[in-house]
Amino acid sequence: MPKKAREMSQVEQAKTCIYCGLSRPFSDEHVFPAGLGADDRRFLLKDMVCGVCNSGVFSKLETKFMRASPVAIARLYFQPTGRGKGKKASIPSINTNSTIVFLEPHGVVEAEMTAGGKLITLLQLLFLEDDKVALTGGDHVGIDVFLDALIAALENQIQVVEKIKDVVPSRFVVETFEWDGARYHSVSRETTPTLPPKRVWREPLASPPAAAATARAPTLYQRTDGQLCLRVPPSTQAGPMLTRARKAPSVFGKQEGVPYSDFANPSVHISMTIDMKDYARVLAKIGVNFVAHAYQEQYARHHAFNRIKTAILEGLSPIWLQTIPKQADAFTGVPRTRHVAMLHFTKSRAGRFHAGMVIRLYGGTTQYVHLSENALQPPDGPAILVIDYENHRIERFFDWGSFGAVYPPNVLPDFKTLDEFSLDG
Ligand SMILES: [Zn+2]
Repeated sequence: MPKKAREMSQVEQAKTCIYCGLSRPFSDEHVFPAGLGADDRRFLLKDMVCGVCNSGVFSKLETKFMRASPVAIARLYFQPTGRGKGKKASIPSINTNSTIVFLEPHGVVEAEMTAGGKLITLLQLLFLEDDKVALTGGDHVGIDVFLDALIAALENQIQVVEKIKDVVPSRFVVETFEWDGARYHSVSRETTPTLPPKRVWREPLASPPAAAATARAPTLYQRTDGQLCLRVPPSTQAGPMLTRARKAPSVFGKQEGVPYSDFANPSVHISMTIDMKDYARVLAKIGVNFVAHAYQEQYARHHAFNRIKTAILEGLSPIWLQTIPKQADAFTGVPRTRHVAMLHFTKSRAGRFHAGMVIRLYGGTTQYVHLSENALQPPDGPAILVIDYENHRIERFFDWGSFGAVYPPNVLPDFKTLDEFSLDG
């Protein structure tokens, strides 16, 4: 190939996304997810990842990772801010199927876990036996705010929306109710991809945990984001509940105090759906990003990483994830206030290497995610990232000495078992 053409082809090659291999507009990709407290502008992949992979695939995976994964609750407890710094910082939150507390005298009621692990009992109407309705919940907003929201929602027409689970793109069942002067009637029910501007969410009421002393009452509650939700058993009609709710605020009146008393150490029950496959995809993506950042783009473009990139993008092939036993954990000397990740290589065959990343988030379990079994010899020593997630600062080291000088590891890792691992098996 003439020199000019060869240069041209290298330039062309450099224009493609390191993940999908396509030539599309790039967007800056954080080496380590910003939502994990790593919004450090010095650690970006520039002109390497296309906007489609970044926003279309990775952002969605990361949102699930932040809000519904083994690290979601640790993030909520330990990390003061999500993405961004200062005034623009977001507050971490989690996605639960339900969060409930046992509250006297009404039994199990709706709650929300917020930043710092703080528990808020949500303001709610409880639909009790014998047509009784109780008003209960915490005081993070005034009772007036809740009643005003109820009155604003309980108009002559209400749309009750239920999100259909596990459907991409999102679809909703929208049921419309009309008030006839005495009660709400269902007038239509349709499945649609769009949300009505005003809505009451519908959530299924599952069986209470075995520890709960009483059966759980259906409830109409207000989440901390202001949305009203009706939680009723899947087979129950929403109309009669809405009718009871419409009549309830006048029963209580705004003047009446909240039948609520503070309580110490409530028993909390959180139910969360976790997709471990997507969890592994995010860890593997951090690994490939880290490779591209520490060992340069060309090394990360090698076909040895094609299989893992496809697994990350498509979510169809398995990703090998292993928990590192405590006695082999190299990170025990690193404080819990730091995430730590290390690229690790062991010889595989024919001069090639197993490439993987050892990672620990929020001082939790240390895990190994496998990235390749035929990587080229790495151009540098073991790369280590230490992330101060409270302050969005990342530090990188290239040898145990410099790393150890800051956070001396107690034990070096023992990866013998990984040498025996082969994806061919
Ligand atoms: Zn791409």
